[in-house]
Amino acid sequence: MYILVVNCGSSSLKADVLDLQSKKTIIELDAERLPLQPIIHINNEEVVYDGKLELGEILVFCLDKIKSELGDKKIEGIGHRVVHGGDYYSQPVLIDEKVENAIEELCALAPLHNPANLLGIQKAKQVFADLPNVAVFDTAFHQTLPNRAKQYAIDKEIIKKYNIKRYGFHGTSHKYIAERAGTFLKQDIKHLRMISCHLGNGASVCAIEFGRSIETSMGMTPVEGLVMGTRSGDIDAGIISFLQTKENWTAQQAEDFLNNKSGLAGLSGLSNDMRDILQKASEGDENARTAIQVFTHRLTKYIGAYTALMGGLDVLIFTGGIGENSANIRNRVCQRLDFLGILLDEDKNKSTQLSNENDVSNISDENARVKTLAIKTDEQLAIAIETQKIVEEKNKVNCIPKIPIAISARHVHLTRETIDILYGKGYELTSYKPLSQPGQFAANETVTIVGPRNKYENVRILGPLRSKDQVEISKTDEFFLGIDAPVRESGNVAGTPGIKLIGKNGETTIKEGVIVAWRHIHMHPTDAELFGVKDQDIVSVDVDDNERPLTFKNVIIRVSDKFKLEMHIDTDEGNAAEIKSGEQGTLMTTTKLVSLNTKNV
Ligand code: ADP
Repeated sequence: MYILVVNCGSSSLKADVLDLQSKKTIIELDAERLPLQPIIHINNEEVVYDGKLELGEILVFCLDKIKSELGDKKIEGIGHRVVHGGDYYSQPVLIDEKVENAIEELCALAPLHNPANLLGIQKAKQVFADLPNVAVFDTAFHQTLPNRAKQYAIDKEIIKKYNIKRYGFHGTSHKYIAERAGTFLKQDIKHLRMISCHLGNGASVCAIEFGRSIETSMGMTPVEGLVMGTRSGDIDAGIISFLQTKENWTAQQAEDFLNNKSGLAGLSGLSNDMRDILQKASEGDENARTAIQVFTHRLTKYIGAYTALMGGLDVLIFTGGIGENSANIRNRVCQRLDFLGILLDEDKNKSTQLSNENDVSNISDENARVKTLAIKTDEQLAIAIETQKIVEEKNKVNCIPKIPIAISARHVHLTRETIDILYGKGYELTSYKPLSQPGQFAANETVTIVGPRNKYENVRILGPLRSKDQVEISKTDEFFLGIDAPVRESGNVAGTPGIKLIGKNGETTIKEGVIVAWRHIHMHPTDAELFGVKDQDIVSVDVDDNERPLTFKNVIIRVSDKFKLEMHIDTDEGNAAEIKSGEQGTLMTTTKLVSLNTKNV
């Protein structure tokens, strides 16, 4: 499978086509200094652009170039790096209008990134019409951060007003690195406590406890945390207001100071590039030495803190340009961490040369309790892999129909005998409107159901008549009426409570028949064959189109040639899940029905 990965920034574009089988990049496009002085390379050859100096136009030009370079090779999906997914996305998603709107809304939180990411999506859709586009969010992996790690200790009203919290970034890399470490060590990451140090131009560290990010050093913006190429990382917030007063800075100037004039570049006064700084430090430059010391001190501090948060550590990982290539920095960071079980084998550390073929190196002493690894990160490949997963899922789901979901309000099914009492002998129900199941209808006629505690008036009768009376209510109704109704499959009313019914012409108390309907799926035998299920099977149904993705477990399958595909839930379930009638679900798993009469399904 070929996947195009688009990483579109406000001044640069990286767009690669990857072959997922060989995990190799087959087309590589880099564009820099956008939009005013575009320098574009495709497969390392410069391409001349003489069009309008406007980001959107340049993107279309670049993507068209990739399209013609592809020849008859077909890409199957496009993965986009999107920096901010806010609280909406904890996973990569297939992009539709709703996702685009969310990315746009989140521009407020990532004004330097999300607008360009969104433009990349729009232009990719224009150039490669009909291909699935997937958004892979930098923030997604950190959605598992517990509240105590997410929150800044500031006024809760302000937090709410502006969604101020720690979102974390570099998530795609941290996740990829953690999984790669697990494969390398032949251990399930669900059993490991890991710290991943992504040390590039931007740098962040992440505590990954049993496969979930539980702390990370970047916060609401990528400024917080480690010392970076040009970003300060952690700083006393008081310094900013101090400088704004002293230097008469605008907010913009303060932001520029923190993002572009600080970090290694600010401290060294030389460069944002660690290679230059290491070189100068070895030649005796004091500022370069200070820059390195502050950089490594801060990281060592984080490693200690994160080990404390997880109550121990199993794997420490270095990645990113500095983490992958600098034995010197790795050594400095780990020097005094033997008390945590971190001990490097200096020969292995020094001789490590990572490459695509040799992307992981175990640099720990063989007696060290903690495995320390240097791993080559590959965000483009990570995005391509995530995109492939979503595209494959989509293709799978596309072959199997989605299941429409309907919400049943409380209603009754009645026998000939009961209708005779409530509406008069021989009375025929009249149709108010047909129901989705063939031949069934909601009648104009209603009844009052009277429980020990309360009553409901105008409860609709559903036709046609049945052989047993049945009153279907929700759990909430149960408490309102003061009746203890079991969860049952429709038609299975033996041993259920009775209730008083009042109609236009009379009243009666049925001996049994009040149930809370077991959520179920009606299907025709041809649907059952397609889904690979049988009557009475129990399945789970995922509702992923909903704002709050959720899974309904314990859904019973009912197969009949009179049925049309539809899942029925009651009003309580619909409300709790914020589902509206007309939404759709995906059938997930099947297990055998053990007992039909279970109450607590
Ligand atoms: P980005 O965050 O832009 O993707 P990279 O992951 O490419 O950045 O990392 C860039 C950083 O890695 C630079 O500071 C660079 O100096 C540093 N780096 C690359 N190679 C080495 C090396 N051999 N020794 C020390 N630092 C290195």
